[in-house]
Amino acid sequence: MKIQFNKPYKTGKELLYIEDAIERGKISGNGHYTQECHSFFEKRYGFRKCLLTTSCTDALEMAAILLDITPGDEVIMPAYTFVSTANAFVLRGATIVFCDSRSDHPNMNEELIEGLITAKTKAIVAVHYAGMACKMDAIMEIADRHGLFVVEDAAQAVDSYFVDSEGQKHPLGGIGHLGAFSFHETKNIICGEGGMLVVNDERFEKRSEIIWEKGTNRTAFFRGEVDKYGWVDIGSSFLMSELNAAFLLAQLENLDEILQKRRHIWETYDDFFASEFTAFLRPNVPDWATNNGHMYYLVCESLEKRTLALDALKSVGVGAVFHYQNLSSSKMGGGFNQAQLDQAERYTNCLFRLPLFPELDAEKVFLKLKNGLLIEKTGSCKLENNDNSRTGKPID
Ligand SMILES: *Cc1c(COP(=O)(O)O)cnc(C)c1O
Repeated sequence: MKIQFNKPYKTGKELLYIEDAIERGKISGNGHYTQECHSFFEKRYGFRKCLLTTSCTDALEMAAILLDITPGDEVIMPAYTFVSTANAFVLRGATIVFCDSRSDHPNMNEELIEGLITAKTKAIVAVHYAGMACKMDAIMEIADRHGLFVVEDAAQAVDSYFVDSEGQKHPLGGIGHLGAFSFHETKNIICGEGGMLVVNDERFEKRSEIIWEKGTNRTAFFRGEVDKYGWVDIGSSFLMSELNAAFLLAQLENLDEILQKRRHIWETYDDFFASEFTAFLRPNVPDWATNNGHMYYLVCESLEKRTLALDALKSVGVGAVFHYQNLSSSKMGGGFNQAQLDQAERYTNCLFRLPLFPELDAEKVFLKLKNGLLIEKTGSCKLENNDNSRTGKPID
C-alpha cells in the first residue's frame, strides 16, 4: 500500500461544530466560531489582533495593502519560498528583491539583507521555513535601523518560537509588524483553505478590519461604534466562512496533541536517518528556533541524486515530494533581474520532503525504505566522506 504525502487529520469535533454553526443561523464570516478562534490565538500567544482569512495568501495580500505598497516599492524576501509570498506584493506593484538562503537552513540569510536595501525598500518578508524561526532579532534590528516594515510569512509556523539571546521565547507571527498564517490542509492546523492575519502594530489595527470587510466599516458598525456602515477604503472579501472557522476551532482545541504527534514522527524520522540510513543531510534546527514538527526534509548532494532518491521512494510507494522552485529563476520572478542565488538553487534541486501527518506510522515508511530497493538505488546517493551530518554542516 502506498503511503501518501499528506492526510488531513480530524480531531473529532469538526462536524459537531459545523452543525452548531448552522444551528446558530450564521455561516458567513465573523460569527461565534471566528471570534473563538481569534481569542484562542490572542490569549495563547498574546497576539494583539487576529483576523481569520480565506487563506494565508489573502492574509499576505492584506499585509501588502496595509503597508501601502505602491508601484516601485521594493520588498526583500527569500527566493526559496511559496509563490504567494511574492505575488501578494507584486499585485500592489512592488519590485521583489530576492535574498538567498542560509547554507545551513533554507531560511533567508539575514546577513545578506542589508546589502539589498535601497532608498526604495519598504519591507522585509521573513518566511519561517518548516516552521523554524528566521533570525528575527537580527532582522528586526536591520528593519528598525532602516525604518522598514517586517511581515512574517508564518504559514508553516503555528506554535513555533524565536528564542532570543536571553532564552526568552517569542511566538512566530507575533514579532514583525504583521504576520500571516495558513490553515491549508497540508499545514499543522487545518480547515481546508484558510489563513489568518496577525496585526502586531497598533497603527494597522483599525484599517485591518476595514480591508478585511471589503473596504467598509462594517465591523465597527456591528460593535455599535457607528450608526451605519459604508465604503471607506479599498478592501476585499477576506473573511473566512464560519463553517471553516468551526472546523478550525476543533483543531485548535487539539493543537498540543496534534503537534506532539507530528514532533514524534519528525524525531522518529531523524533518529532513523541518523543511525540507519545516512545518505542524506538531515534538517538543522537553529539554536534560536523551536520545532513544531511541520516538515521533515532531507537534502541530497545534487539534482541527479535527488531524482534517484525520489524515483526509488516512488517505486516502494512512499509519497515523497520536492517543492519550492527558486523564485528568482522562475518565469515571473526572473523579471526582477536577480543575481545568481546559489543556496536557493541548491535547495530547489536537492531538497525533498517525506510524508508527515498525525496518523502516519513512521515504522511503515522505514520498512518500505529498507526493503532493499531504496538502499540499493541510493547507494549512489551516499555523500563523499559522508559524516552523517545535518544541513548545519554545509556540503560546499
Ligand atoms: C502554504 C504557504 C503559503 C500559502 O498558504 P495558503 O493558505 O495556501 O494561501 C504561503 N507561504 C508559505 C511559506 C506557505 O508554506
